[in-house]
Amino acid sequence: MKETERNNSIIYLDHAATAPLRPEALNAMLPYLTEKYGNASAIYSIGSAARDAISECRRQIASLIGAKSQEIYFTSGGTESDNWALKMTAEKLDAGKKAGEKHACRGHIITTQIEHHAVLNSCRTLEKNGFEITRLPVNAQGFVNPEDVEAAIRPDTVLISVMAANNEIGTVEPLRPIGEIARRHGIWFHTDAVQAFGHIPIDVEKMHIDFLSASAHKIGGPKGVGLMYMRRGIELPSLMDGGGQERGHRAGTENVAGIVGFTKAAVLAFQNMESGREYTEKLRNHLIERVLNEIPGSHLNGPDPCPGSRTAENAMENRLLRLPNNANFRFDGLNNETMLVMLDLKGVCASGASACSAGSLEPSHVLKAVGLSGEQALSSLRFTAGTDNTLEQIDRAADILIKVTEHLRKTGRG
Ligand SMILES: *Cc1c(COP(=O)(O)O)cnc(C)c1O
Repeated sequence: MKETERNNSIIYLDHAATAPLRPEALNAMLPYLTEKYGNASAIYSIGSAARDAISECRRQIASLIGAKSQEIYFTSGGTESDNWALKMTAEKLDAGKKAGEKHACRGHIITTQIEHHAVLNSCRTLEKNGFEITRLPVNAQGFVNPEDVEAAIRPDTVLISVMAANNEIGTVEPLRPIGEIARRHGIWFHTDAVQAFGHIPIDVEKMHIDFLSASAHKIGGPKGVGLMYMRRGIELPSLMDGGGQERGHRAGTENVAGIVGFTKAAVLAFQNMESGREYTEKLRNHLIERVLNEIPGSHLNGPDPCPGSRTAENAMENRLLRLPNNANFRFDGLNNETMLVMLDLKGVCASGASACSAGSLEPSHVLKAVGLSGEQALSSLRFTAGTDNTLEQIDRAADILIKVTEHLRKTGRG
């Protein structure tokens, strides 16, 4: 098969790993990759055109999450923003201490066992440098209990970092109650909102968020660009040393085209949030129904996606409990790598765990945290739909998955 034919028949169900670039985002970017190539720091007019474009993007993005323009900083993506929030919070508070106060533990950070590796590995680095980390457990659906957050607070706690929504099982965490606890105790609150941004409403004021990470390529923007929201008055030092870009807080020549494409994708995602949610939820629910009904020994990992569950965990906010596009299954006795290879041969793109650990045989830390055994975790697959998918594709993917599991069971391979 020619590569183009193959691409046409691909059923892409891995939108949590990356989403296809929206054509509107590409079109918005093109002028900044061609005739409008000026450096945003330059005096001449093609430079100021780039500068003006970035200012307008900052204004538009800020308004989407209840922030002010000057609280938005563009970065190279979710990973950089997470590193910045974790490492520079620690740095800033440590630097503020008097020499005598710097004892064995330099500060305490509260996070969870199910964070993305950008947060978890930043914490590991901080730990090596003398900070203490509490990694809170989650329940069987992946929810963090706000009471556990409060109970973990110590006099030397400097930061609480809890993700807005989990990338593997789609659990939407109770941000507002956690933000209220952080505020009450005078502790900074960071959220990795890479999976939530553009999919569910976020308001940095109502949720008492001090730092927030988001990424363009998970919502139909280009790869390699993202943002950090930092509450006014508590700006962190720059993670990168260099020029005075982003008002001295993030050195490096601005990725003008990336920022423009990110903003276009974000505005579209927020404008169409409700219809996008309904659409992907319908596709996702159809997949769940077919898989659970037609594949023996299949189970859903993560929160109950039925609409009735929307109010169960937190009636006050009537919030969504699972990302609308996420399904994560495990199949008794089958191996996820084998299944992924066979699905790929049939043109279905899914994921075994987080993409970052693809290629390794490590069971997912998220699935282990929700109580699965290593073997169960290694029999799990994630499917994440997008608005570019069709119901017909979901049916084809379900048919293929049914055949693949039947075949593997019949041949005794797993
Ligand atoms: C993808 C992802 C990241 C990393 O973002 P990049 O822009 O790819 O660096 C961080 N956190 C979560 C939850 C993610 O899903």
